[in-house]
Amino acid sequence: VRRNPKKGRYERARIEAILDRSLVGHVAFVAAGEPVCMPTLIARVGHRIYVHGSTASRMLRLLAQGNLACLAVTHTEGLVLARSAFEHSVNYESVVAFGRFAAVDDPDERLAALEAFTEKILPGRWREVRPPNRKELKATAILAIDVDEASAKVRSGPPDDDGTADAALDVWAGEVPLVTSFGTPLAAPGLRPEIPVSASIERLLASPVRV
Ligand SMILES: Cc1cc2nc3c(=O)[nH]c(=O)nc-3n(C[C@H](O)[C@H](O)[C@H](O)COP(=O)(O)OP(=O)(O)OC[C@H]3O[C@@H](n4cnc5c(N)ncnc54)[C@H](O)[C@@H]3O)c2cc1C
Repeated sequence: VRRNPKKGRYERARIEAILDRSLVGHVAFVAAGEPVCMPTLIARVGHRIYVHGSTASRMLRLLAQGNLACLAVTHTEGLVLARSAFEHSVNYESVVAFGRFAAVDDPDERLAALEAFTEKILPGRWREVRPPNRKELKATAILAIDVDEASAKVRSGPPDDDGTADAALDVWAGEVPLVTSFGTPLAAPGLRPEIPVSASIERLLASPVRV
């Protein structure tokens, strides 16, 4: 991180924690000479980060060729409101990683990756639902990125104009945290009425704020 290097973080645990908070990553790559950036679910097992989808996906087919890719995730944590327009910002945590994806062929690793995706969406869900069958497994491509280089960048705290001449202005300044929360579950139209909400969902709703 060259621009504002004090915001750079490089510890693996910090980078992995930010990735684990992110359901979605943006994968950038070059397709037929043109830049492309695709949002997709990500899941991590150990040091491996997985993406998955239909075997028909252009993104997955191109990434499986092993061309260099860039994976980025971002969390916006709050608004940073300064006295001047110039100093307005947001608090955030982001990760940018570079590497090459490769197809995962080992059946056990593929199943573990699919479990990780399901558990990432909702912890405890994997054991509540039907596991993937042979046809579904065949239709699913799973790729893991071999990360060559990764960095995190973090901004936190109040606006930067405290202690400057602007602090004398009569304008409120400070931070407004951004909180993401789950709402009330809406049953699938075909759900039989006697089926209760699953235990995993009960646990989710007991602390619905997403951190
Ligand atoms: C939510 C959010 C909003 C932002 N808004 C703005 C904005 O409005 N204007 C603006 O100029 N910048 C913004 N940034 C910062 C932006 O992501 C870049 O860090 C910044 O623009 C510097 O770009 P650069 O190409 O000069 O980076 P450099 O410091 O030259 O990048 C060198 C390398 O550092 C790493 N790196 C750079 N930025 C990040 C990052 N954010 N996370 C992880 N690794 C990184 C990458 O590996 C990159 O290749 C924002 C970041 C976030 C997360």
